Amino acid sequence: MRGRRYPEAPHPYRNEFQRDRDRIVHARAFRRLEDKTQVFAERLSDHFRNRLTHTIEVAQISRTLAAALGLDEDFTEALALAHDIGHPPFAHAGEEALNLQMQAYGDSFDHTLNALRLVESFEQRYARFPGLNLTFEVREGMVKHSRDFAPGERPEFDEYLPGLRPPLEAQLIDLTDEVAYNTADLDDGYAAGLFTMEEIAAAVPHYGELAEEMESQFPGAAEKVRFQEVLRRLIDLLVSGLIEGTRQNVLQSGARSVAEVRRLPRLTALVAPAAETNRALKHFLFERVYSTPPLLEERKHACDGIAALFEFYMRTPGELPEWQRERLEELPLHRVVCDYIAGMTDGFFRRTRTRLLG
Ligand code: MG
Repeated sequence: MRGRRYPEAPHPYRNEFQRDRDRIVHARAFRRLEDKTQVFAERLSDHFRNRLTHTIEVAQISRTLAAALGLDEDFTEALALAHDIGHPPFAHAGEEALNLQMQAYGDSFDHTLNALRLVESFEQRYARFPGLNLTFEVREGMVKHSRDFAPGERPEFDEYLPGLRPPLEAQLIDLTDEVAYNTADLDDGYAAGLFTMEEIAAAVPHYGELAEEMESQFPGAAEKVRFQEVLRRLIDLLVSGLIEGTRQNVLQSGARSVAEVRRLPRLTALVAPAAETNRALKHFLFERVYSTPPLLEERKHACDGIAALFEFYMRTPGELPEWQRERLEELPLHRVVCDYIAGMTDGFFRRTRTRLLG
């Protein structure tokens, strides 16, 4: 283990990954996930996921996977809890809008680099060092959870072994995230009345069989209860498919160590029938949830709002809070404005926008 940038004495009863997990849970950026959009910004219902409850679902599913595959559960859990902490307000629409603003200054924004900067410097909780002083392994997993990069491709990530794949614990997060949000968005979309069970069955392989089984097993149950019975089995089908597919790939690769895993293509995958269900589900959600008029409207509203507040601060930097203005001694204005907006929750963003722009 490469461990921490600033050496620390071991803890009497928590291992290094448990400590990293606890540092993430106690971070301000983690608490802010509570008021950040997952998919539905205007909360159509109190029951929908936000980014915090999504994160908890990813952590729960990935611990199950890690245990079933004989991987390090604590390492996996720390990565799952950190996987979305770099998201700005208003989900992907917010990320795109901030990136667009930054491009006008020859710069860029993405949530992965933002997450790294949060844990490396923005969180100030320790007297001896900036940031959370997480282990190299967790930082590497954070920057590589959803994609690999070649040497020189992302200079900011040069210390994180470019060209090599991360350990399996980090590789798992990407697909676990996908299984968690596909099934959760199906749940929230159904609750929002965007489609029926019959429509899912017509579009998603295996869904119809599960629905028929539940109908004959529980003929008197209300449809919304049967929906949950099917959803539970759908999660099971996808998670089991991920365990099976990954196990097969690891066996076939002959990899015996993390060093060997690093040199191979990614080994995490869903086994064929489950992969087909997952793909169809993703496509269905794109058509019936993400690109429907209410969500497109929300995205446009988020993009316009972020552009307006960004431009306002660029014109009127005196309106930035004092602790952000101090950063202008070392950083260009657009970077300070971007970092400040990226850290906002949806609610704080709305309040700030109303206060400054009416
Ligand atoms: Mg996620």
